[in-house]
Amino acid sequence: MSTTLGRLNKVLRFSTVDGPGNRFVIFVQGCNFNCVNCHNPYTIADCNHCGLCVDPCPEDALTIEPGPTVVVDRVACTSCDVCIEVCPFDSTPLAYAASVADVIEQIRETAKFISGITVSGGEATLQPEFIFDLFSAVKTDPDLAHLTTLVDTNGSAPSELWDRLSPVMDGAMVDLKALDGTVHIQLTGASNEPVLESIRHLALISRLSEVRLLIMPGYNDDDASIEDTVSWLRSVDPNMRIVVIGFRNHGVRPGVEYLEEADQETTERVGELIRAAGFQDVVVV
Ligand code: SF4
Ligand code: SF4
Repeated sequence: MSTTLGRLNKVLRFSTVDGPGNRFVIFVQGCNFNCVNCHNPYTIADCNHCGLCVDPCPEDALTIEPGPTVVVDRVACTSCDVCIEVCPFDSTPLAYAASVADVIEQIRETAKFISGITVSGGEATLQPEFIFDLFSAVKTDPDLAHLTTLVDTNGSAPSELWDRLSPVMDGAMVDLKALDGTVHIQLTGASNEPVLESIRHLALISRLSEVRLLIMPGYNDDDASIEDTVSWLRSVDPNMRIVVIGFRNHGVRPGVEYLEEADQETTERVGELIRAAGFQDVVVV
């Protein structure tokens, strides 16, 4: 069994919102985008062990040891999230290393009750060896081989990485924050060129599970933007599954209260524009 280590934020044994069916979800630590709308900003950076979260911990579950290294007493920790709230670096002291073998044993305990596993983040594809070894272990284990293997991604990975994963990965769910390059940089701090190439390439190799359009009022919700996006997606694959997600400000960083939530009328309008363009598999959430 692989001893490859993943840097993980947490695992969820059961989730119905991270792909089809009931899924075991692994959230990795670390992301190469810096989205203004991020709902889990504490997954973006690796802890730099500055120690600023040690004293605020109400349970004295954190200590700083020579190195320096912040160490967590996981028995004392009550998951109150105070350390996450005070961290000025979009990190958490609670991220941890786990081997593929460890994660496989956890998956085995739930295998009878789930339909698949999803690696999410953070950005999953920043840890490609972990994903490859994990999915390979699932696909070659007689008790786990029935599970589907999905990646939830910001789409920044190069085509070569998707090619490497494709023998053991059933699909990728790709976020497209904006077709317009300038708006994409405003929203994520990164170019969308790799994202568009990922969507094209995953469709080409039959590994595109869905494209997720996050609707951010004032940025990407006007009819012209939606029509351009839909037209581009049609040129890639008119049969792809599209999920429309209205922005909600739950969990976002303090200071971005200016971001407007997408109401149901807006997301339904976007869904109708996509359906009117001929897409059959459209979900509005
Ligand atoms: S979540 Fe963080 S602050 Fe809260 S008890 Fe655990 S280590 Fe301490
Ligand atoms: S979690 Fe944040 S505040 Fe705490 S030690 Fe790491 S970087 Fe510093």
